[in-house]
Amino acid sequence: MKTFYAEEQRRHDPKAFLSTGMQKPNPEQPERVERLLAGSRAAGSTIHRPASYGLTPIAAVHTPEYIEFLTHIFERWQRMEGASAEVIPNVHPFARNGSYPAGAAGQAGYHMADTACPISAETFDSACWSAWSAVAATEAVMSGEPAAYALCRPPGHHAFADVAGGFCFFNNSAIAAQRLRATASRVAILDVDLHHGNGTQGIFYARPDVLTVSLHADPSRFYPFFWGHADERGEATGLGYNLNLPLARKSGDTEFLEALGHAISRIRAFTPDALVVALGLDAFEGDPFGGLSVTTSGFARIAEAIAQLRLPTVIVQEGGYLCDALGDNLTAFLTGFSGAN
Ligand SMILES: [Zn+2]
Repeated sequence: MKTFYAEEQRRHDPKAFLSTGMQKPNPEQPERVERLLAGSRAAGSTIHRPASYGLTPIAAVHTPEYIEFLTHIFERWQRMEGASAEVIPNVHPFARNGSYPAGAAGQAGYHMADTACPISAETFDSACWSAWSAVAATEAVMSGEPAAYALCRPPGHHAFADVAGGFCFFNNSAIAAQRLRATASRVAILDVDLHHGNGTQGIFYARPDVLTVSLHADPSRFYPFFWGHADERGEATGLGYNLNLPLARKSGDTEFLEALGHAISRIRAFTPDALVVALGLDAFEGDPFGGLSVTTSGFARIAEAIAQLRLPTVIVQEGGYLCDALGDNLTAFLTGFSGAN
């Protein structure tokens, strides 16, 4: 299986992270790339640099207002007297009523859901290359590869059409799914990250052509809190095309695989032409977020189960943070997927 990745994706290097009111080092570190590249190579994958696809595939799921904001906000922020080195808003609209602030501080609050996605001089470029890695993997699958892996970093599944959040700027999984729609009439996205894929759900919430399914730690007491509950089923013509499977904290392989069985059953009933796997590895028992207890061999079994769908599959990297087994977990998933396919 081919891996797609560009060195520019490493340059985004966020420093700040506010958690339970405390400033901590941001967990979405460039070093994740080293571990994931090693894990991909250990699975026998070859690394390929994506082409630059411009803004067209990104603009297919993100608003022009948001793309323009991300393009210029770092420079605009730096012009404010006494501004921090990274863009980190502290005022957010609790509801949107149509008004749009003119200034950098207000727009940052409008377009950024939380303090986990600081923007530096390198962020926009890194986020573009991350999205292009997803596009390149999608192109490979559309050209006949049974599966391809996009090493997307920064990740994407918490990014809505016009909001960054949770380390995410452009929604790489959504960009892949939308790209697949050029030839596939129905696309399913299966999100196995520890956290609910709220941005992905939001982008496709009113659409019946893209089924969104997410397994994640119960958001009643876990990020992203406001989305990911079982009663969120879609809206308008998208009603019935979103499935959330929240899991009790510390659930292990058995509970995860049981829920995955439900997810796969729903995907089969949707009869998609192609699949995007939003591959978070942070459901791992040793991940610093500590939300679920999936094992390394559990990731292989998850991959084997997904591969049984026998669909053209784009695997998009989402979360998974620094721990000794991060690379091994990717190796287990990719090997399990290829072995079963
Ligand atoms: Zn996550």
